[in-house]
Amino acid sequence: MPRAFITGITGQDGQHLASFLHSKGYDVYGMVKGQSNPHVGAVLEEMPFIEMVPGDLADLPSLVAALNMAQPDEVYNLGAISFVALSFNQAELTANITGLGVLRMLEAIRMVGGSQNNPIRFYQASSSEMFGKVRETPQNEQTPFHPRSPYGCAKVFGHDIVVNYRESYDLFACSGILFNHEGPRRGIEFVTRKVTNAVARIKLGLQHELVLGNLDSKRDWGYAGDYVRAMWLMLQQDVPEDYVIATGETHSIEELVERSFGEVGIDDWRQYVRQDPKFFRPAEVDLLIGDSSKARERLGWMPEIDFPTLISMMVAHDLQVEAAKAGIEL
Ligand code: GDP
Repeated sequence: MPRAFITGITGQDGQHLASFLHSKGYDVYGMVKGQSNPHVGAVLEEMPFIEMVPGDLADLPSLVAALNMAQPDEVYNLGAISFVALSFNQAELTANITGLGVLRMLEAIRMVGGSQNNPIRFYQASSSEMFGKVRETPQNEQTPFHPRSPYGCAKVFGHDIVVNYRESYDLFACSGILFNHEGPRRGIEFVTRKVTNAVARIKLGLQHELVLGNLDSKRDWGYAGDYVRAMWLMLQQDVPEDYVIATGETHSIEELVERSFGEVGIDDWRQYVRQDPKFFRPAEVDLLIGDSSKARERLGWMPEIDFPTLISMMVAHDLQVEAAKAGIEL
C-alpha cells in the first residue's frame, strides 16, 4: 500500500485529502502538534484509519522523527497559520509556520529521503493569496506575485523555496497554487462558512444579524473535495511542476451573501446584514480569478461542483447542524 503523510490533518483540506487517499488504498498518516489538539478526536471518530504522528512545523527534529516513523511515499504539506486576518496580528508566527515550516519540511525530506528507487514526493499548498494586488487577470502559473498580507508573504516564501529545492536538489516537489476552496468542513472564520452558518441560524430564528467587513472583494471559490484530487494528481506525474487550481469564475462577497439568503427563501437580506470596520483588513486582495488551463490539459483535472451547488450544499449542511444542535425539527 502506498503511504501518505499529511500536515494540517485536522483542517478542511487535510480531512478531504485523507478520505480521498484512503479510498485510493493509501495508508494515511496525519501530523498533529501539541499535547491536546481539540480537533483530533472528532477527526479520528470519522476517519479511524488515520495514524496520528506527533510533529510540529516549527521543530525540524520532530519532522525528521515523524517522517522516519511514517516512511511515506508522498508528503502533503497543508499545515499553516491559514487565516489571512489572523496573520496581520500574528505576523511572526505566520512567517515561522506558514513560511519557514516549508523549508523545515523540505530539509526533513532531504534527510529521510525515502528509498533510492522511490524518493519521497512532496506537495506544497501554495495559495492564490500570493497574487494579492493582481498584476494580470486571470492569474496563471506565470503571473508575478504581489502578496497583501503576512500570510501571502509567507506563502510566497514557501512557494519559492519549493522551486529552489526542486532545482537545487532534484527533489520531486510540486506547488499547487489553489484558489479559495470551501465546503461544509470550512472553518467558521472564513467568509463563506461564516455566511452560510449565519443564514441557517437566522432562518431558524437562532440569530438576528450577520456582521461582515468588505462586501466588494471578489473570489474564485471552488469546492475543497475537487481541489484535493488535483493535489494527488500533481504527485502522480512523471515530472514535478506547479499548477494553478481554480474554477475560472469570480463572485463578490455580496453575491455570496445574496445567494446564501436566497437558498432559504430570504430576498430582503440587507435588513440582516451590518458592516463593521473590525472585519476590514489593513490591505485587501480585491479580485481573484484563476486560469487553470495547465491543470486541465496536463492533469485532466476539472472542478465538478460549481458555485451555486457549493453554496446550496453549505447552507443545507448548516441548516441540518444548527437545527440538530437547537433541537429543532426541519
Ligand atoms: P481569504 O481570501 O483567504 O482571505 O478568505 P476569507 O474567506 O477569510 O475572506 C475572503 C474575503 O471576504 C476577503 O476579501 C475578506 O475581506 C472578505 N470578508 C468580508 N467580511 C468578512 C468577514 O466577516 N470574515 C472574513 N473572513 N472575510 C470577510
